[in-house]
Amino acid sequence: MLMSLLIKNIGELFDGRRIIRNTCIYVEDGIIKSIGKEEETDEIIDAKGKFIMPGFVDCHTHAIFSGYRDFELEWKIDGISYKEIAERGGGIGYTVEQTKKASKERLLRETMKRVKEMIKHGTTTAEMKSGYGLDLENEMKMLEVINKIDKIDVIPTFLVHAIPAGKNADEYIEEVIGEIIPEIARRKLAKFIDIFCEEGYFNVKQSERVLVEGKKYGMTPKIHADEFSCIGCSELAAEIYAVSADHLLMTDEKSMEKMAKAGVIATLLPAVPFVLNTPYPNARKMMKAGLKIALATDLNPNCYVTNMQFIVQLACYKMKMKPIEALKAATLNAAKAIKMDHLVGSIEEGKKADLLIMDSPSHSFIAYEIGRNMVSTVIKSGKIIWQSEE
Ligand SMILES: [Zn+2]
Repeated sequence: MLMSLLIKNIGELFDGRRIIRNTCIYVEDGIIKSIGKEEETDEIIDAKGKFIMPGFVDCHTHAIFSGYRDFELEWKIDGISYKEIAERGGGIGYTVEQTKKASKERLLRETMKRVKEMIKHGTTTAEMKSGYGLDLENEMKMLEVINKIDKIDVIPTFLVHAIPAGKNADEYIEEVIGEIIPEIARRKLAKFIDIFCEEGYFNVKQSERVLVEGKKYGMTPKIHADEFSCIGCSELAAEIYAVSADHLLMTDEKSMEKMAKAGVIATLLPAVPFVLNTPYPNARKMMKAGLKIALATDLNPNCYVTNMQFIVQLACYKMKMKPIEALKAATLNAAKAIKMDHLVGSIEEGKKADLLIMDSPSHSFIAYEIGRNMVSTVIKSGKIIWQSEE
């Protein structure tokens, strides 16, 4: 039986590109059928003049891990260096240790808790990276769990994240190329391959080897680039036609232009400079260079945020993006950054009915008001999956 749904009395609609006023959306079997036509339906939702937008697409997360790092916050406030935090037993080493110890069941349980928070704040599609296992067994464990997550669309990425204890970068890369990539491909566990290209982690040459190898096995390259230094990682993204280059805090103009030419999406993660107290990426310069901007949380134990509305607020107040630009970056462009834009990221005929009814009168309010969860109803594929109590 065909299930139909009409959402009427929409005050303002952001469809992923532009604003439409006083309209309605008609949905059949979870797919958007028309906009602006009041068809006969089984179910009607009265939006009561509220603002409606596509579900957020969080296109860069490390949402799967075990072990929170709240204990580090006081150390960070006291100015203790990342190196000393690691020596005191914190840092990524702690997360790797805890994630290795966790069973699949526990990892799934802990991750689903975060996914529920993401949903509550309006995320209906998310990318999720492995990268806290750092060996065949534990990277596979993370990817298996990512592939089990339901309720929203979750896109899995294999991330070469750090150098495992007791190994050097080249040794780990041999293991990645010789064992881990072929096994992931055999079991079809990841759509993307990603690497942390940075001084002290993996250099440009090592990153290129890994990404090109992943590409051979059918995974699309992404790259963590220019977070702390500009050593050529974003240029590499352009050369190998990565779908996105992420972070880009230190990117120079030349690299921006190269990436724009190659069609690489600039995925910006403003919660990272927020927690690190460092300068924000230059979004306006990137847009001027012709780059498409996507926004994401970078949800991880060192930057613990599940709320994409906050990311939009940071993008506007701190990176000088206009509200409509930030919303597009957090929906349609974010979907492009994970090659999901044929299905999600905008409200148009033929796409999934992933919609948010917001307790706000306009799109600009999402950027303007800080800190309150403005989501009133979350609809995923035409079904209500979360509703606020009001
Ligand atoms: Zn990241």
